[in-house]
Amino acid sequence: MPYRFNFDLTRVSRFFFKEITEAAHKRKLHRRIGDVAQRLLERFRIQEITGLDFPQALMLLEDLMDIQMKNLNHRERFLGTSRRALFLPHCSRKHMDSRCKAVFDPNIPSYSCSHCSPDCLVGEATLLGEKRRYDVYVVPGGSCIHQILQRGRYEALVGVACGEEIKLAEPLLEKTRLPGQTVPLIKNGCANTKFSIGALKKIL
Ligand code: SF4
Ligand code: SF4
Repeated sequence: MPYRFNFDLTRVSRFFFKEITEAAHKRKLHRRIGDVAQRLLERFRIQEITGLDFPQALMLLEDLMDIQMKNLNHRERFLGTSRRALFLPHCSRKHMDSRCKAVFDPNIPSYSCSHCSPDCLVGEATLLGEKRRYDVYVVPGGSCIHQILQRGRYEALVGVACGEEIKLAEPLLEKTRLPGQTVPLIKNGCANTKFSIGALKKIL
């Protein structure tokens, strides 16, 4: 389920994301966010750059911090695993129409990237995952992930999605008890979405 607002953080300083990681570390220790969140939103001019109002910007920031915190909590277990799956969002493909040459197999269910465009984010992330021996799935939604994980082939997973989808996938992670790492989208909207390849590289 998408956010009820669109956001685009691609023009925000990369130090914003570094600060979020640091704030998540502190939050893990102190469980307080209010002041930190407000300070970050002001310092990095998030409302000015994105056009979001304060509650929307705050919600986004809290979700980003939550994601970082959960990644930290699962990191040690995740590092001890070898059979891993990487789930990429179909909305970050360069093309959402027939120009995308990915093939959808309903039996999996997943798209399989054909690497038709060298400048496609999903194409690039697929190569990255395959190089690191992940099974890579390009999925249109969380229910596909559920079906794939039900077969029980994996010890851990990495997922890229918007914060809302990541929140919706949490019960699934709890149920499977798999250590998961997630990378949030920095531009949502369900088409032409963006995530940071650098952030994905670090997580993988
Ligand atoms: S590189 Fe892959 S995901 Fe991207 S448009 Fe081509 S086939 Fe689709
Ligand atoms: S932005 Fe992408 S990941 Fe989020 S709900 Fe839309 S299609 Fe799904």
